[in-house]
Amino acid sequence: MSKVYNVIIVGSGPAGLTAAIYAARANLAPLCVEGFSAGGLVPGGQLMFTTDVENYPGFPEKVTGQELMQRVRDQAERQGTEIVTADVERLDLSARPFKVWVEGEPEPRLARAVILATGARANYLGLPSEEKLKNRGVSACAVCDGALYRDREVAVVGGGDTAMEEAHYLSGLCAKVTLIHRRDAFRASKAMQERVLSNPKIRVLYDTVVDEVLEREGAVGGLSLRNLRSGETSRVDVAAMFVAIGHTPLADLVRGQVELHDNGYVKTVPGSTRTSVPGFFAAGDVQDFTFRQAVTAAGTGCMAALEAERFLGEQPH
Ligand code: NDP
Repeated sequence: MSKVYNVIIVGSGPAGLTAAIYAARANLAPLCVEGFSAGGLVPGGQLMFTTDVENYPGFPEKVTGQELMQRVRDQAERQGTEIVTADVERLDLSARPFKVWVEGEPEPRLARAVILATGARANYLGLPSEEKLKNRGVSACAVCDGALYRDREVAVVGGGDTAMEEAHYLSGLCAKVTLIHRRDAFRASKAMQERVLSNPKIRVLYDTVVDEVLEREGAVGGLSLRNLRSGETSRVDVAAMFVAIGHTPLADLVRGQVELHDNGYVKTVPGSTRTSVPGFFAAGDVQDFTFRQAVTAAGTGCMAALEAERFLGEQPH
């Protein structure tokens, strides 16, 4: 008979590893499949792509995203989590124990409960110059990186609620914000739009796309822009470009097996990490399109472990 884990956690960002810490401390001997490749699950999650983290409680001197995640991983291991460095290729939630196919293993691992903490990936424009300057002025998170551009001029790309929120947030820190949107109307809610349109520090460029991110001394120095209606090109001098054109939740593993929101995020019961499948929990950015912070992800990871423990306690042996 194959071993049946109490809990298998898929993903190793703040949500997955916090779930692991709590599950291990509850004597559930969890397995965490942390991911392997940049194409699939990224060990450590999105924080591995940021530089300094200044808003995670407990690190007054700031900490790099990588160091923070290494510490959390060490903590999860020390508490007794088994960690496998591989991607999960397939999940079968149709019957319990659930089946988890780990890359390179012929047989699935079995779990009484599964916590999905695969996170989300920020969408980028796909320009080579953008890729080159990531973390050197190109960012997808104003709350994470905005303070680095205090009193400088910055740009935000996008026309949804996130772009409005990022522009508004940055206007409180930066000298000026140029909001660049590819159409002549925003997709964002009216209230969020009004907040931006009435803000004197935010200038909006409609019908405009970024053709290239310009480099100055190894960092972002400006953007080369094109108006889609007139074809006219222009340049804006900014120290940073915040891309806010949506995120893609990494929920492919469970599509068709569990209820998702229309935007692809896993649906959880409000105030809980329970999903439409009993015993299957979702934590972190794969189920959160509102806050998307490391600390909120960690919070839902904790919730998922506690809820998994409660679920297992209710099952007949
Ligand atoms: P959205 O999908 O709502 O908006 C993405 C924006 O990016 C759109 O304006 C889109 O343009 C633009 N875009 C997409 N691809 C490109 C591209 N390749 N080049 C240029 N522009 C592009 O994503 P959000 O992250 O803004 O929001 C996601 C969800 O989260 C929404 O449901 C939103 O309401 C919600 N949210 C809620 C918040 C709140 O209530 N406080 C805060 C943040 C998000 P176009 O319009 O032309 O398609």
